Amino acid sequence: MRIDLHTHSSVSDGTDDPTTLVRHAAASGLDVVALTDHDTAEGWSEAAAAAAEVGITLVRGMEISTALGHASVHLLGYLPDPTYPPLATALDKILDGRNSRVPGICARLQALGFDVTAEDVRRRAIDAAATGRPHVADVMVAAGMVASRDEAFERFLNPGRPAYVDRYAVPLHEAISLVAASGGVSVLAHPWGRGRAVVLPEARLSELRDAGLVGIEVDHQDHPPAARDALRAIARNLDLVVTGSSDHHGTGKTDHDLGCNTTAPEEYARLLDLAAESARASGRPAPGVLA
Ligand code: AMP
Ligand code: FE
Ligand code: FE
Ligand code: ZN
Repeated sequence: MRIDLHTHSSVSDGTDDPTTLVRHAAASGLDVVALTDHDTAEGWSEAAAAAAEVGITLVRGMEISTALGHASVHLLGYLPDPTYPPLATALDKILDGRNSRVPGICARLQALGFDVTAEDVRRRAIDAAATGRPHVADVMVAAGMVASRDEAFERFLNPGRPAYVDRYAVPLHEAISLVAASGGVSVLAHPWGRGRAVVLPEARLSELRDAGLVGIEVDHQDHPPAARDALRAIARNLDLVVTGSSDHHGTGKTDHDLGCNTTAPEEYARLLDLAAESARASGRPAPGVLA
């Protein structure tokens, strides 16, 4: 059984719509795929219909933008009830922050001599509930200002670069609580990717486990082999579920093909058991896995 628990559609910053993404997942030989768009459940119903059509299992998830102090941390929430009012309110606040920073990014780009407008970005992100810097990057690529999303981030959009604008993220502990209270389970996305190892050492992971975190994404393209080994050992010590996934963004990220990393069936089974337990404890109508 091949299981990929982290993918993005054009409902956030992936390039395939949910139907196409799920069809690609089936064509790539996956049996289980999770749709984890940034900060939204908007793609779930379309993905569910496509999964039923092609006969694979869809796990409904989301990748929540959280903050730990000044650091940005991505939290994968699996099987939460997105209509749980406190979760819905937090997601709305994040999506508002995503939209309201676009004019600021554009103003900075214009000051640098690049004619990128908020209207261009809106048009580019037309299918997206969650607008992101990748959509700004896509406008720049289409206009020939940069060659790739990567170049746009490295030169302009990353923190410390001249067009970077910060946005709201939910405090990490609050996000873990919201996912649990909505009947779902939380897994840290790429915990040691892009310099985050200093933010999330074992002692911190242990404390997050005590706060309700159930797993960590170990097999991810942002983790070199030594990081994966170390994280696997930490997961064993802390009794955390180990996941592996592609973090596929369609053509928006190279070297993140569907199924390039996968989750072991026994770890997936554990995650589902914990989700079922969370749903029972919360009393929320958790969406369940669609077989
Ligand atoms: P935002 O959602 O606006 O904070 O932008 C962050 C998103 O941009 C992440 O979720 C990544 O998917 C994407 N991203 C970050 N760095 C790059 C890069 N170098 N190339 C392509 N996509 C990137
Ligand atoms: Fe992304
Ligand atoms: Fe992420
Ligand atoms: Zn992701």
